[in-house]
Amino acid sequence: MDKCYIGIDLGGTSMKLGIVDENGKLLDKLEKPTRGEEGAETGLARMAEHARELAEMSGQPWSRVAGLGIGLPGFLDIERGEIIRLTNIPWERVPVRTVLEAKLGVPVVIDNDANVAALGEAWSGAGTGIGDIVCITLGTGVGGGVIVDGRLVHGVSGMAGEIGHICMEENGALCGCGKRGCVETIASATGMMRLVKEGLAAGRQSLLHQPAQQGELNTRTLFAAAEQQDVLALEVIDRATDALGRLMAILSVVNNPAAFIVGGGVSRAGERLFTPLRQSYAQHALAAAARGVQILPAQLGNDAGMIGAAALTVRREH
Ligand SMILES: [Zn+2]
Repeated sequence: MDKCYIGIDLGGTSMKLGIVDENGKLLDKLEKPTRGEEGAETGLARMAEHARELAEMSGQPWSRVAGLGIGLPGFLDIERGEIIRLTNIPWERVPVRTVLEAKLGVPVVIDNDANVAALGEAWSGAGTGIGDIVCITLGTGVGGGVIVDGRLVHGVSGMAGEIGHICMEENGALCGCGKRGCVETIASATGMMRLVKEGLAAGRQSLLHQPAQQGELNTRTLFAAAEQQDVLALEVIDRATDALGRLMAILSVVNNPAAFIVGGGVSRAGERLFTPLRQSYAQHALAAAARGVQILPAQLGNDAGMIGAAALTVRREH
């Protein structure tokens, strides 16, 4: 009998649930509000209820569900399957695995959201068939997931993959982590918008004054302005891709991945991002370490989290 797996991607506003087959193919999915303010007990009960609802929706008897994985935003004790503290959801010290295993009778594994997105891409996205990859998620922050020989790397305190906090500029802008000049302060959507606003405030001529006045300053309008050869927009993108290229050059001599997979909202800019990124990487990387290394756009989009969460329990069996 074929097994299937359920993955849940829990975010501040919604929980996405997906059911996948043994090859990581998404069979069905469901999206529900998180309602974190109602507390963890209610939240976990709803997750269990929606997981059963999803299995039923996709015509799978519960006995066929072989595991449930959850991607969570925040600090976790992955070994124990516990939440320490989450970002944007007020849950603390929650024994997720114990509670859900009791409710559902299947193995439950948790991991952080950037790691599960990486695992999703590795299993059935852009990294399919590639054992060593680093995933970089460019959104409001810069997230990462490191996969070596097909397995997620966690490190001694679970911080492996927190690549957004590699320092790029001494005395640079203050980062959310408390340090200065992290990659995230330059290359995340938030970081790029900060650089644009600084340029505009300094009186630079730019097509971006208008979207700024209309409250439409975002990475989409930034890349559109760059397309029009707007000098400020080109400079901001150049600074971001330069920082990312240097970051990837560093990673190439640490674990030498065969591919970097770049996803997140900013990656929707497509070649307008990837062309300068590949150039920056080629410029900064040690030639021997960069040979044959691919820089690929993520393929699974918003589904990566739930597919990767489901993969957490698949890998556990081997
Ligand atoms: Zn930082």
